[in-house]
Amino acid sequence: MELDERLIEDANCYRRLVEMSFDTIVIYQDYKIVFINDTGVRIMGAPREQLLGQPILRFIPPAYHALIQERARYMFTVGKQTEPVEIEVNTMQGQTLEVEVTGIAITYERAPAVLTIIRDIQGRKRQQREMEHLAYHDSLTGLPNRRWFERHAFSLLQHAEENDRQACLFFIDFDMFKHVNDSFGHQFGDLLLQEISNRLLDDMTEHRHCIRMGGDEFALLLLDIRSEEEAFRHSERILEKFRLPFELMGIPFHSTCSIGIAMLPEHGATSYKLLKSADIALHQAKLSRNCAIMYSHHMEQHSMNVLTIISDIHQALRQGWLVLHYQPQFHMETGKLLGTEALIRLQHPDKGMLSPGSFIPVAEMTGLIVPIGRWILFEACRQNMRWLGMGMPPMTISVNIAMRQFQENDFVQSVFAALQETGMPAELLELEITESCASDTPKLEQVLHELRPLGVQISIDDFGTGYSSLSHLSRLRVDKLKIDRSFIVQMLEHERDENLVRTIISIAHNLNMKVVAEGMETHLQAHKLKGWGCDIAQGYFYAKPQKPEQIYELYGSA
Ligand code: C2E
Ligand code: MG
Ligand code: MG
Repeated sequence: MELDERLIEDANCYRRLVEMSFDTIVIYQDYKIVFINDTGVRIMGAPREQLLGQPILRFIPPAYHALIQERARYMFTVGKQTEPVEIEVNTMQGQTLEVEVTGIAITYERAPAVLTIIRDIQGRKRQQREMEHLAYHDSLTGLPNRRWFERHAFSLLQHAEENDRQACLFFIDFDMFKHVNDSFGHQFGDLLLQEISNRLLDDMTEHRHCIRMGGDEFALLLLDIRSEEEAFRHSERILEKFRLPFELMGIPFHSTCSIGIAMLPEHGATSYKLLKSADIALHQAKLSRNCAIMYSHHMEQHSMNVLTIISDIHQALRQGWLVLHYQPQFHMETGKLLGTEALIRLQHPDKGMLSPGSFIPVAEMTGLIVPIGRWILFEACRQNMRWLGMGMPPMTISVNIAMRQFQENDFVQSVFAALQETGMPAELLELEITESCASDTPKLEQVLHELRPLGVQISIDDFGTGYSSLSHLSRLRVDKLKIDRSFIVQMLEHERDENLVRTIISIAHNLNMKVVAEGMETHLQAHKLKGWGCDIAQGYFYAKPQKPEQIYELYGSA
């Protein structure tokens, strides 16, 4: 074959490759189109004759002109292929397409030209956007998620600040949501979350964003709020909205919320700091529930303390710093030792012995009381069996149970497991529930209903400080009432308290309950209570809480 013929054949072959390419291929000289392949003709939506000779920049939005010119200069001076870049092109029908272009300087019909490969990336972009949407939105409610917040909140807030607009962040948590999930199931919980998000979205504008931060936590980023008063008014509207009941699966349902508010820029100049402040305020709000609280700087110290306590508790659980002391309880009539109450302490290597008052409230708030409580239950039963094994007569062991523990689905099982594993007879175990916890009837009734057949005893702690009626307690078939120390302290000074104590004793007896007087410190108190028929005494006058070995030393040989 002649050289010329071979060249012509090669050229035809390349031309066919170019024509058949799925990508648009355009050659331009002096920014005018001199060649376009079939794909290009189809995509640009005009006959080839109309396209040839057209200025290339006519199809490119002005925002990209400088970039295209810069790349063309680069190709001619450096003479290299350019890296792919994503731009937009306008078709003859006025449609805008997302494309990726690569250019290379060539010689076309003996003159310098640019060959451009234009790849349609609409599909890839759509997929990318869908993936992004999935990554930055919550699938249950369709709301932006925490990742979205981390990515976008900063620039939104910065923009607001640059424009001298005050903005604020609400951190919202739904009271009792965990309870809803546990009692009604996750499907119900999901429906509730969807309803919640609908209500929150109710009065959104383009300057407001509602984000699901996770679980039952939502955030509202409000970029159109101008003052603290306005923020409060808005929070009041939200609280009001959730005071109306929901109707889910035919069940009318109440779910109030707590709101923590932080203002930009006073309570944090970055989204991270603002969220932290709103979270701190939310913790305060959750203590009272169904209210909104604005962040203030003094909360920080408090929350630092709370964080330290949380970390102490975690360490205590891991390193075995939790210890139980035991306070004896005596039969008033005979003076016989009947049992002990297990009282928790945290033996901190640097801070010394911490009393329950300093960490139990935090443990209850955070749910850490559940693992702590489980340990207490096992350890108390184990200790009681140790004493029995050392030859002491059988005694009851009273264990304080926090409200949070009762709400756990496996609470009854864990009591059962403690008895089984330690081999302690159920009659020797007494669970103390505080009076305020005893008014949470439906769940408590169910738990007591399951516990009673085991033979476990129930007593009401701190009696007199809550609002439960005695008839309600007798319906729960409680075994003992422990009169709160505050009444015992005051009964000799205030006649009203004396009457109260005497009345409690007599009604409790009528209802077949025994009475324990807590916090007896003097002989006179003991004498009086004995006279009024109080059954059991627990107080410093008789004995303080002690280490287990002291209990054995003092009462082991009796
Ligand atoms: P509580 O269950 O009413 O326990 C009685 C508290 O009164 C104990 O304080 C005890 O040392 C104290 N006390 C007893 N007699 C006297 C007295 O004559 N005078 C005075 N001033 N105090 C007396 P403690 O050990 O500091 O416990 C305080 C509270 O912490 C307990 O009140 C209970 O609500 C909680 N707590 C203690 N241990 C546990 C536990 O294991 N689990 C849970 N959930 N809470 C616990
Ligand atoms: Mg107690
Ligand atoms: Mg008490």
